[in-house]
Amino acid sequence: MAGIYVHIPFCRHKCSYCDFTSFPDKTEYAEAYMACLYKELKMRGDELKDYEFDTVYFGGGTPSYIPPKLILGAMNQIKKCFRLKKDAEVTLELNPGTIGESKVQTYLQAGINRFSIGLQTAIDEQLADLGRIHNARDYVYATKLLAGQNFSTDVMLGLKNQTKEDVQKTIELAVSCGSSHISMYALTVEDGTPIYTDYLNGELPDSDEVAELYEFGRKLLEEKGFKRYEVSNFAKDGYESKHNLNYWKRGEYIGVGVSASSFMRGKRFTNTFDLDEYMKCVISGFYPAVTSEEVSEADAKFEFVMLAMRTKYGVNMQEYKEKFGTTLAEDFPSALKKTVKYLELDGDNLKIKDEYLFVQNSILVYFMEEER
Ligand code: SF4
Repeated sequence: MAGIYVHIPFCRHKCSYCDFTSFPDKTEYAEAYMACLYKELKMRGDELKDYEFDTVYFGGGTPSYIPPKLILGAMNQIKKCFRLKKDAEVTLELNPGTIGESKVQTYLQAGINRFSIGLQTAIDEQLADLGRIHNARDYVYATKLLAGQNFSTDVMLGLKNQTKEDVQKTIELAVSCGSSHISMYALTVEDGTPIYTDYLNGELPDSDEVAELYEFGRKLLEEKGFKRYEVSNFAKDGYESKHNLNYWKRGEYIGVGVSASSFMRGKRFTNTFDLDEYMKCVISGFYPAVTSEEVSEADAKFEFVMLAMRTKYGVNMQEYKEKFGTTLAEDFPSALKKTVKYLELDGDNLKIKDEYLFVQNSILVYFMEEER
């Protein structure tokens, strides 16, 4: 399996927690940026003629903020330059404060068949606190425009003054509005973002409180028929995100646009984070990648385990052996011994027990430390 990731780095306003590559003050560059992005798609497409792609994902930034004809243009270019499977999953991230009927029509015309909506919380005061541009009513409006479409909703945990009732209200809104998939993840506080002050002042829930909110949300989602298939992702049967599953299976993907990362032919590379440098580079006919590394076999083994252990499927041991020629027990004897109480065997798959999935990072540390 292989995926295409397209980064759209424009937003109307910078959220207080945002550490993504997004430029709220450079929207006038959108058309010129997309012209460069079409060129990068062509350059990458020429080089990847032997690949067939299963998924496309427009992330950001806010892809739904720029004129929709630019998304249509990007999809036309992808169809022209890459071999895309007929039933490819094509996702667009959408901010509820930036959507209208004609935009949705253009997205459908472009072939977008899955939407990922950033609700975060149904509590308007919390949305304002995060610096989000939408309120809960905008979310309801967006979902009405998407009636009958396949869409996912993002729910965030660990917000200032957030209670279990708030999480319940948010999940119930997302479910009643028709989400087929819900991503429920904890707010990550990055140094250098405005919300860091709230963290320093002890105004955000601590990790135990977040874990409680998560457990509460997980149970509620499961009662509502959403099955957890990755630590932060829940879906109704058949609605798991193929694009993300490909990441967790350590599948290949090509990323285009400023700051986009790729993993192709055993190499990881990342484009420049600088908008001007990105455009100058592509206009001059050069790839805008600024870092590139061949993944060593030892790192590849750890990545394979780490990514698979995030999911409910765990590591398929036969697949591991076929890929690397060695067994999990040979490569990670000490880690397996130290983490045995957190793990279980499901047929040929070794996975983290359900009740420990939320703390998988502290389990995976033992695998990272193992000498291979
Ligand atoms: S909408 Fe997303 S990318 Fe844009 S500023 Fe907010 S968090 Fe960052």
